[in-house]
Amino acid sequence: MGRFAPSPTGPLHDGSLVAALASWLDARAHGGRWLIRIEDVDGPRCPPGTDTVVLSQLAQVRLLPDEPPIWQSRRGAAYQAALDHLVGSGWAYPCACSRKDIAEAIAARGDERARHGELVYPGTCRHGLAGRPARAWRLRTTATLSDERDRRIDWTDRRLGPQSQDLTLDVGDFVLRRADGLWAYQLAVVVDDAWQQVTDVVRGEDLADNTPRQVHLLERLGLPCPRYLHTPLVLGDNGEKLSKQNGAQALDLSDPLAALQRAGASLGLPRLSADAIGDWLGQAVKAWPFRS
Ligand code: GLU
Repeated sequence: MGRFAPSPTGPLHDGSLVAALASWLDARAHGGRWLIRIEDVDGPRCPPGTDTVVLSQLAQVRLLPDEPPIWQSRRGAAYQAALDHLVGSGWAYPCACSRKDIAEAIAARGDERARHGELVYPGTCRHGLAGRPARAWRLRTTATLSDERDRRIDWTDRRLGPQSQDLTLDVGDFVLRRADGLWAYQLAVVVDDAWQQVTDVVRGEDLADNTPRQVHLLERLGLPCPRYLHTPLVLGDNGEKLSKQNGAQALDLSDPLAALQRAGASLGLPRLSADAIGDWLGQAVKAWPFRS
């Protein structure tokens, strides 16, 4: 089972079509089914109606799901049940720290660890809130509950090969439910991939460094781990990855076949001569290189 899981913060761009097409081709090349999940957990960042735009863009290139799409904004009860489970087993804990508190705690330890401008949480609230009100919920990243050893996650990407990350040192105990009450992507994505019985996660390489957090969460929830394939990123003319944040143009669908041809080229597919979308997709399934 494969899936495409767009966040409807804007229309699809060239890069998101690559992820959509790759996940569709991979499912079809394995005789599998393919789903669409609208990842609108971060409601304030999703302009109304964008989900409809995204679904119609996918329909124009004939990437049609085998079941009706689901919306994460309607799945709060499932995320709450997962959080309750993690709290009950002692892995999730409430956190009272603001960004300022975290920065101060890191500075007080003389610890300059900061990654991508993000602060690695130093674990202040692991042992209690010291009377402060809870703001967010976090997941412990140490190897076991009873010791503080770092947790190294080894995983294999079907394109990139063996990968490894020290979750405790590189990421730290991460947020499951934010201080503003919104569910974090990490929790929502693993709960839904398991619920939808996704066996193969295929998505852009920019998400590869989220995978160790998701593997850790899946293990803590006793859920099966899917296989992962992270696709090459599409770079804009300025050499930066295309993203809605840096103003990527919406996908040009004036010629849907040409759009598919461009997405296919990013995935290393040869130029296919087809005059109809269905024919192009059929040939692309046969040419899909990630067959194992
Ligand atoms: N919703 C995420 C995004 O649009 C993708 C999530 C995933 O494929 O795991 O960036």
